[in-house]
Amino acid sequence: MQRITVPTVHEGYAIGVDLGGTKILAGVVARDGSIVRRHERPTPQDSQDHVLAELEAAVAELLDDSVHAVGFGAPSPIDQENGVVVRCVNLPLENAPLRDRMHERFGIPVGLDNDANAAAIGEWRGGAGRGVDDLVMLTLGTGVGGGVISGGRPFRGRNGVGAELGHVVIVHDGRPCQGACTGHGHLEAYVSGSAATAAAREAFGPSADAHRAVRLANEGDVQAKGLLEEVGRYLGSGIGSFVNVFAPQLVVLGGGFGVAAYDYLRAPAEEVARREALEPMRSDVRLAKAELGTAAGFIGAAFVAFEALDAG
Ligand SMILES: [Zn+2]
Repeated sequence: MQRITVPTVHEGYAIGVDLGGTKILAGVVARDGSIVRRHERPTPQDSQDHVLAELEAAVAELLDDSVHAVGFGAPSPIDQENGVVVRCVNLPLENAPLRDRMHERFGIPVGLDNDANAAAIGEWRGGAGRGVDDLVMLTLGTGVGGGVISGGRPFRGRNGVGAELGHVVIVHDGRPCQGACTGHGHLEAYVSGSAATAAAREAFGPSADAHRAVRLANEGDVQAKGLLEEVGRYLGSGIGSFVNVFAPQLVVLGGGFGVAAYDYLRAPAEEVARREALEPMRSDVRLAKAELGTAAGFIGAAFVAFEALDAG
């Protein structure tokens, strides 16, 4: 008698939660990447207990019988073995055993990832990278986050702490990096929204910022365009190296600044990236603008939840 093995397919939805510096964005997401319903609340700034309580509340708000797993994206390295959020840069959250706590509270599988990885997974599953097996995503915001999908799987490095693409050196002994990073000449110091704000202040005075530079460029200001194109060339140096390492078909640019300035960054970034990358990678690669906006993080977190569900 022939035995037919039917693979277990879990139906139902997952909740994805994106923990941001100012907001907790959460959504119920289907396996095709569509959003069933969503919820947002402010991120508390005062204590770890308060942040954890609000994360629980965000999940509880959306939870029903159709939800089979929950996933979180946090702005922190993640200890995947222990399910711990190691240390958030701008939030009171350190060595937080999020996976165990949420599993105890809700009794369903829990996935955890870095917020930039989650955004890359979101764009891969439901946005600009749909159907692509090899992609690199860079989120240009206050800092620079990176996420890599390699051979149809998220790349996370040892114990899930990779890939910090914003902290690769593009200028030896260059500008000091930001925040807790002690490095120099890192991509983040040249292409983040903060770096663009610093350049905008130098050009247009102390009240200017990156978004003002984009507005001015949209109005035809030559100096503002030049400033953004310079950022684009630095970005191209980073992208050229990532293309040589990961051989992606697609590089997705996201983040508040990355999306707003995309039209100015793209051409110079592509030009420099193609100069630095080797054949055949450089002919294959293309740049695309992220499509999901701020939803990328929680959609990706929901797919991290599906990953945990399917592994269990
Ligand atoms: Zn750095």
